This record gives sequence, structure tokens and C-alpha cells, in this order.
Amino acid sequence: MDFSLNEEQLAIRNTCREFAEQEIKPRAEEMDRTGEFPYDLIRKMGELGLLGLPFPEEYGGAGADFLSYCIAVEEIARGDAAVAITMEAHTSLGAMPFYLFGTKEQKERYLPPLARGQQLWAFGMTEPDAGSDAGSPRTRAVLRDGYWHINGAKAFITNAGTQMSGGVTITAVTGTRPDGRSEITNLIVPRGTPGYIIGNPYRKMGWRASDTRPLTFEDCQVPEENVLGQRGEGFKQFMQILDGGRVAIAALSVGLAQACLDEALNYAKQRRQFGQPLSKFQAIQMKLADMAMEIELARLMYYKAAWLQMQGKPYSAEASMAKLFASETAKRAADQAVQIHGGYGFMDEFPVSRYWRNVKASEIGEGTSEVQRLIIAKHLGC
Ligand SMILES: Cc1cc2nc3c(=O)[nH]c(=O)nc-3n(C[C@H](O)[C@H](O)[C@H](O)COP(=O)(O)OP(=O)(O)OC[C@H]3O[C@@H](n4cnc5c(N)ncnc54)[C@H](O)[C@@H]3O)c2cc1C
Repeated sequence: MDFSLNEEQLAIRNTCREFAEQEIKPRAEEMDRTGEFPYDLIRKMGELGLLGLPFPEEYGGAGADFLSYCIAVEEIARGDAAVAITMEAHTSLGAMPFYLFGTKEQKERYLPPLARGQQLWAFGMTEPDAGSDAGSPRTRAVLRDGYWHINGAKAFITNAGTQMSGGVTITAVTGTRPDGRSEITNLIVPRGTPGYIIGNPYRKMGWRASDTRPLTFEDCQVPEENVLGQRGEGFKQFMQILDGGRVAIAALSVGLAQACLDEALNYAKQRRQFGQPLSKFQAIQMKLADMAMEIELARLMYYKAAWLQMQGKPYSAEASMAKLFASETAKRAADQAVQIHGGYGFMDEFPVSRYWRNVKASEIGEGTSEVQRLIIAKHLGC
């Protein structure tokens, strides 16, 4: 067993750490306050190759391995969660489906601008009435005269409405399977297609500078060939997309948890009460030690899930475990970080107040904690 990172993984970690520290973190408070999408930062990340890390160079990617990509997400999240989720949703949900399931033509057409970070792409699965039960979409697409006519709505979709957004891939019911269940197909809908209506951004508790919107499809027509891969493969495809995405969300959560520990430790060493720094009180030390231990464990869990993915082995249960544990670790870490800051932790001048709001979404997006527990239980044979 070898726990060391190779040279490439270390180089990507260092680049991202430096970028997060120098370019992202100093702007995190402002981004959260204004909720403005940070185009310049996202473009710079594209130029650095950070928006196409796990894709081959022939498609404009950086040709890095999956673990390198996850480590990059962790480091960017340490700087700011909204930037990290923009990167994660673009890579794992937007671009990855083209790479995994796209036809040769689809890969050549859609992937290069995404991998180079010139364009963002979204994946629309969740609907107003189909969230955890993502296998039961209400959105329908009917094939007529060589065009899919799409009608329906999607909710909470990341990266669909920025000026850089090229389009969205959506799940839609396209028929009934022989066993009576819905046939689900993933359809590619470029931005600007008539009938594809991008709603106003939601006002959010956290991840405020990321782009999250409702989408509506009113007799939206895309050509027959805009099926991602094969017709009827939609459910299988999005289950696979989510496995990879969950490892990346685990990494994002570890980055957030680490940021909580960084701030809490720093503050505990500086703040003095009863004549000594907080860090000298054992009650505070216990909190910091528990945070460090859980972060280490969560990091190892996502490393292992990423390693399994890279070996081509099943990793669905490990992805769910990593996502579940890391997101709950981040929540506990944020809570303790605020506690260690006392009243200052409740004030927006201190980053931990923002971290406390930002950690929550990781327990919801790409499958809630309850859904992760259901998946793990299923793997146990329940
Ligand atoms: C900031 C943000 C960004 C997002 N980005 C995207 C995106 O880019 N693309 C996309 O498709 N979606 C996106 N989502 C949607 C996200 O994946 C869903 O919110 C999530 O899957 C939960 O669905 P829901 O919100 O409808 O909750 P519901 O499914 O209604 O669940 C509500 C509660 O009931 C629980 N519950 C539901 N079913 C069960 C069950 N069987 N057993 C036990 N408990 C259950 C849930 O765990 C939860 O606690 C995003 C969400 C957020 C908050």
C-alpha cells in the first residue's frame, strides 16, 4: 500500500493551493456578499487547465488522473466553496457525461471548449417534483420529424445561466420500456435553443457566487442526434455520473473542513482569555484534535474511492461513504470553528460564519445524506 502522491498529483495540489490562497481566498467574502459570478477567476482557472483536468489532451483537457482532479477541487474549496462547486459541477456533471457517454462526434464537438474552460456546461436532473427520486422525471421528450420536442422543468441547476454557459444536458422521459417503467434519455440542449428558458438565479444560503437556476422547456426542439450516447441509457448514465461527482463533492467538503480547521487553529492561538491563548485550554484542544482526525479520515476515504475509480473497480458504495462522511465532517468542523471563535464567529467579518452556511449544501447536492445511507444499505444487501 502506498499513500504517497506522485509528482503530478503534488504539482496540481501545489498549483491549486497557491491559486486558492492568492487569488480566491482574498475575494471570498466579497463574492459571498455580492453573489456575483467570478468570471475572471473562472477564466483564469480555465487558462490554468483546471476546468478540464481529468480529460485527455486530445479533447483539450489536462490529461490528469481522477485523484488529481479531486485534490484540485479540495484545494479550490479551501479558498472558496462557490468557486469549487462551479468547477466541480462543470467537470463532473457538465463535461464528464460527454467524455463517458458521448459519441465520437459529440466528444469532438462539445468537449474541447469545456475542457479548455472557454465554456461551462450544466447537467439538469432535478425537477420541482423529482429530487431524490431522480429516476422519475416529469420532463418529456417526443420524437417528431427528426426533432425531440421537450416539455418540462428542472430545478436547482448549476452553471446553466452564466455568460459562459454553452448549454445543459437533461434527463427526460422518452417512452416506456418493455417492463412498463419509464425510458429515460439524456438530451443535449444548447443555450439559445428556442423554448429553453433559463430562469432567474435563486437567492441562496451559501455557495452564493455560484450560478443556480430553474430551467423551463416549452416545446423546446433539439435534433434527434442530440441524444447523449444511446437512447434509453439515461438512468444508467446519470448513476455513473453521480458516483464520480460524489467523490468530488467529498473532496470539496474536505477542503471546506480544512478551511474551518485552519481558521479555528489560527484564532485559538491568537485569542487570549483567562491570561492565555484559547489553544492552551484542553476543551479547545479536544475540538481541534477531533476536527483534524475526522478531516484526515474523510480525505483518506475520498482518496480510496478515487483510487478504485482509477483502477476501473466498482466504487459506488465507497463514493457514497466518502461523500456522506466528508459532508458531515465539514458540517461538524464549521460548527466547532464558529464555537471556537465565540461571538466573533457569528459575525460576517470572520470567514467561519460563511463556512457555516457553505457546508450545508454538500449534504444535499448530488444525493442527500439520507440517499447516501440508502445506497450504502443497498450495498450491504438490505
Ligand atoms: C446549491 C445546489 C445546487 C444543485 N445543483 C444541481 C445540478 O446542477 N443539477 C441537478 O440535477 N440538481 C442539482 N441540485 C439538486 C440536488 O441534487 C437535489 O436538491 C437533491 O438531490 C435533493 O432533492 P430535493 O431537493 O428535491 O429533495 P427531496 O428529494 O424532496 O428530499 C427532501 C428530504 O427528504 C429526504 N428523502 C427523500 N427521499 C427519501 C427516502 N426515500 N428515504 C429517506 N429520506 C428521503 C431527503 O433526504 C431530504 O432530506 C442542486 C441543489 C442545490 C442545493
